[in-house]
Amino acid sequence: MADCLFCRIVAGEIPATIVKRTEDAVAFRDIDPRAPTHLLVIPTRHVAAVRDAADDGLLGGLLRFAAGVASELGLDAGGYRIVTNTGKDAGQSVDHLHFHVLGGRKMTWPPG
Ligand code: AMP
Repeated sequence: MADCLFCRIVAGEIPATIVKRTEDAVAFRDIDPRAPTHLLVIPTRHVAAVRDAADDGLLGGLLRFAAGVASELGLDAGGYRIVTNTGKDAGQSVDHLHFHVLGGRKMTWPPG
């Protein structure tokens, strides 16, 4: 989508620190990190949010991709959190499905 920030990152029109990329997914560093490691994992295809993802393969593939990147960045031992905000009450600010991968510090629960 032409006016989607994350589609523009996928297309290379907006710079981002890309950590890993496949045909289907991209992992890049969040511009405003909330943990020592804070990545965003997105599908290369535009899907607005998890509620709009009708494709089980896309969702499963994204989660496995996120876990693989977390592992490659050394987060397995300490653990990490994967979260996706959906809609305004959750604070979703970019309408392109993204999993936050947060690690490198102790997390609190419940999230605010
Ligand atoms: P959410 O609020 O769950 O929709 O998450 C959107 C995330 O995108 C936030 O954590 C932002 O810091 C992050 N973000 C916004 N613009 C950029 C950008 N240009 N590059 C990397 N991360 C971004």
